[in-house]
Amino acid sequence: MATTPDDVRRALEAAPERRIDRTHAHEAARYLSRSLALFAGYLLLDGASFLFWVDPVPVKPWNPQVGLAVALLCAAGLRFAPAVFAGALASEILLRSPGHPAAVQVVCALALTIAMIAIAFALRRRGFPRVLGTVRSTRDFFAIAAAGALLSSFAYVSTSLAVTGAPFDALWSSVLHKWLGDALGMVGATPLTLLAVSPRGFRAPEMPRSTLAFDLAVFAVSLLIVLAVVFGSGPIRGERLFYLLFLPLIVIAVRRGLAGAAVGIAATQVAIIVALRIDQRTIEDATGYQIMMLALGATTLLLGAVAGERRRTQLELERRSAELRAQQQALADAMRVAAASETASTLAHEMSQPLSAIGTYARAGVEMLRRGTASPDELNNVLQRIVAESARTRETVQRIRDFFRTGVIHREPVEVRRLASDVEGAMRDRLRAEGIAFGVDVPERIAQVDVDRVQVGTVLHNLVGNAADAVAGAPAPRWIRIAARERGPHVEIDVIDSGPGIEPGMREALFEPLATTKPTGMGLGLAIARTLVTAHGGRLELAHLHPTTFRFTLPIHGSDEP
Ligand code: ADP
Repeated sequence: MATTPDDVRRALEAAPERRIDRTHAHEAARYLSRSLALFAGYLLLDGASFLFWVDPVPVKPWNPQVGLAVALLCAAGLRFAPAVFAGALASEILLRSPGHPAAVQVVCALALTIAMIAIAFALRRRGFPRVLGTVRSTRDFFAIAAAGALLSSFAYVSTSLAVTGAPFDALWSSVLHKWLGDALGMVGATPLTLLAVSPRGFRAPEMPRSTLAFDLAVFAVSLLIVLAVVFGSGPIRGERLFYLLFLPLIVIAVRRGLAGAAVGIAATQVAIIVALRIDQRTIEDATGYQIMMLALGATTLLLGAVAGERRRTQLELERRSAELRAQQQALADAMRVAAASETASTLAHEMSQPLSAIGTYARAGVEMLRRGTASPDELNNVLQRIVAESARTRETVQRIRDFFRTGVIHREPVEVRRLASDVEGAMRDRLRAEGIAFGVDVPERIAQVDVDRVQVGTVLHNLVGNAADAVAGAPAPRWIRIAARERGPHVEIDVIDSGPGIEPGMREALFEPLATTKPTGMGLGLAIARTLVTAHGGRLELAHLHPTTFRFTLPIHGSDEP
């Protein structure tokens, strides 16, 4: 038959549906095969762990199938409840009560299934299987397994006695035996199954993978040796030597955490069942072994959880400290970059003033020469000023670079009046040109400060420069004043001006880098000044708005303060 384009289109349109059908079919097949595996596993474990019945109820002293079913119901929810019920029913029909009426078998299987669902959901409520492996969840598991085993044993035994019409005399002894069997089954099989079906499970990162084969081999060999000693030395002495089983279990739990503990307990239980089958002990022996196995299992699981938690904490600690190291490195890099850019900006800022002064002096010299009016003295004076400015520039560059590169401060005792007259000298021409009066109000006998002269000079330069900028556009009288006084271990220095004050929008960001209201400003002067003052152990702040007063403190020479 010829294929038309319409056929192709129809086939394409139908394709997604078919794909969905296939996915559904695949899901269904997977569900069925898993249910079947659970059913078979349940029956197999029930049969394989059979030792003998405790009359009159078909109770046997080991129930790993209960542990398996509880784990799978806990991990996957009610989806596997039918498979569990089928397993329990098949076990009634084939193993436990073959001759009984079907109704009895169904009711007993149902009672047990409901109990197992209840246990699984109690575990889910406490966060299982997600929380598996912590000490807290292991304690929760013990509590739920103990209470759950009581529920399942009571439900099963009482239902069985009721439907078969047997006398209730043996109720509590049968309940006790089934309780031990179910609790032991859960301790042995539930954590192991949960680990096997959960995605992290045995691949948990906390235990080293490198020595796995070695650890398992050591465990297997020592388990066999201990079992040979225990079972080879007769019933009475064997029971006394049972504590030896702790040794291989402790070692595997400590070395491999909960996963090691779970595998170890399951292997030990299997080995003991096999040994008891070969040895044909009586029910009293089995009960004794059951109680000891329960204690052994609980201790081992707890130990495994503790070891796992410890290792996890250690890994977390290592991860955090690696992270911290990386952060510190990043911080150091960022600080270096910031320091580099701050150095560059500071240098540019600090050099612009003396360079323009040098330019002015040089131009004046050239003009004098051009006119031919300059006396050698005048020329010498101009050249001296150029030399002084360039020396100041060099020293400033050097000291600022040192400070930002290494944080070095060349401290020396310095007169506050000297600091004020230095800045006045450097600014004299500008102040005169703009008609700004400059006053210094520093007491004669004020203490010396312990500072880097060049760096504090930079601070004063910035503050007086800003004051001059502010005053320049203001109406007369125009003035700037430096005042100083002692305050405890510090000298407090004010730079006050008659300018219009700080612009309102500027007040918050005054000391932030790059904040400026000037067309040619860099907005770094105050940020740099504050960095330098802080490095000296002082504080720089805007003390008053009117008249504008910037105040900073410097340590007095000889005081204990840095
Ligand atoms: P820049 O001088 O490059 O602008 P600064 O950090 O030194 O950078 O100053 C930041 C801003 O603070 C200035 O642009 C100005 O608006 C304001 N400012 C600083 N000092 C004064 C002052 N004495 N009077 C008025 N405003 C000032």
